[in-house]
Amino acid sequence: MNQSQIPYKIYLDEKDIPTSWYNVRADMKNKPAPLLHPATLEPLKFEDMQPIFCDELIRQELDNDTQLIPIPEEILNFYKMYRPSPLTHAVFLEKALDTPAHIFYKFEGNNTSGSHKLNSAIAQAYYAKEQGLKGVTTETGAGQWGTALSMACAFFGIDCKVYMVKVSYEQKPFRREVMRTYGAEVTPSPSMNTQIGRKINAAHPGTTGSLGCAISEAVEVATQTPGYRYVLGSVLNQVLLHQSVIGLETQAACKKYGIKPDIIIGCAGGGSNLGGLISPFMGEKLRGEADYRIIAVEPASCPSFTRGVFAYDFADTGMVCPMAKMYTLGHDFIPSPNHAGGLRYHGMSTILSQLYADGLMEARSVEQTSVFEAAKLFARAEGILPAPESSHAIRGAIDEALKCKETGEEKTIIFGLTGTGYFDMTAYEAYNNGTMTDYIPSDEDLAKGFASIPKIK
Ligand SMILES: *Cc1c(COP(=O)(O)O)cnc(C)c1O
Repeated sequence: MNQSQIPYKIYLDEKDIPTSWYNVRADMKNKPAPLLHPATLEPLKFEDMQPIFCDELIRQELDNDTQLIPIPEEILNFYKMYRPSPLTHAVFLEKALDTPAHIFYKFEGNNTSGSHKLNSAIAQAYYAKEQGLKGVTTETGAGQWGTALSMACAFFGIDCKVYMVKVSYEQKPFRREVMRTYGAEVTPSPSMNTQIGRKINAAHPGTTGSLGCAISEAVEVATQTPGYRYVLGSVLNQVLLHQSVIGLETQAACKKYGIKPDIIIGCAGGGSNLGGLISPFMGEKLRGEADYRIIAVEPASCPSFTRGVFAYDFADTGMVCPMAKMYTLGHDFIPSPNHAGGLRYHGMSTILSQLYADGLMEARSVEQTSVFEAAKLFARAEGILPAPESSHAIRGAIDEALKCKETGEEKTIIFGLTGTGYFDMTAYEAYNNGTMTDYIPSDEDLAKGFASIPKIK
């Protein structure tokens, strides 16, 4: 079909929601490195993870071989409340940029949590419920994951304890109240009610917290409270697996209208939306069926891919979590509090890390003010007020579209619009007032974080 005949919004039918998740690891020749036990440095086995994670989720975490994993009916029914999500042809953005490129975005902000995180939250809450657990603990940074998990736990009737990075807890009281409305208990991190929280508070008085630190607290509480397990909203293999619904629906939409993307772009925090969006396309690439350029866009203030090292590191500041081989800035790295919102994690998905190391995808970093410039342009052209995280992908897509304008190439670009930015108005305010600044860590700043990376293998 001629691109100009493609409707503005490509809606799929309920029957286009995939009935299985796609596990890209099955098609990877170089599998992501296994998680290591923090004490023995041996690959983690099922039993090692059992005190922390739900059983079925551990099976998914360790499964490098099963290509398609059926989605349980209860989860599929929940998906039907807000999926399939539309793939939108960004005709107004194309006009605003005066580009010959064709731009499409997959919008995941059409639910109360306002982001793609609900796709995995509902799966994780379901498996916790199935196992007969009383509740789950987690951390949240900007608050989207905590919100999504609160919704999911409320749906299945289990408890939800959220450790929220202190800076967000203070800056985003409305997110906190959405979580509490859905029944979650929300604690600012570092708190004084965990061992690790007290230790971090003592070592860094007045700290505004970090994701790594909140993870340590949530894990401590899960392992010490009977009937609880810990769940995580990004980074893990199981989360990328659940998020593959994004990519599978995108693939279905492309098939329906004969769209063949040249470039697929996503923002990268821990890698879950990007991993989910690209998985089926990466699968085609890995099997030699098609080729795509795949680009991860990350903040210049937390540049795991573009300036990090590929090494085993702790997943959390408190060093209680397993070690993962990933692109990392060091588990002691605490990003500048001046950076708005998410994408602040020091590490990266092991799956995406391996794909990046193997040259199967690209990465670039962008500065905060240029991200908000892209956000404003997009909001005015396409009507949706994007989340700051999502706006990294918008920036990436705009930059590629502008290159097409120079070369006259009619490339097709798909990017992931992960969510809406209604709770990020403090950051928008700083941008609108002209007080937003860019922070790029110096090599010396990064060296401090690198020094915390354990020397193994
Ligand atoms: C959490 C979040 C991200 C980043 O997390 P990933 O795991 O890298 O996808 C991006 N956009 C939004 C809206 C988010 O809530």
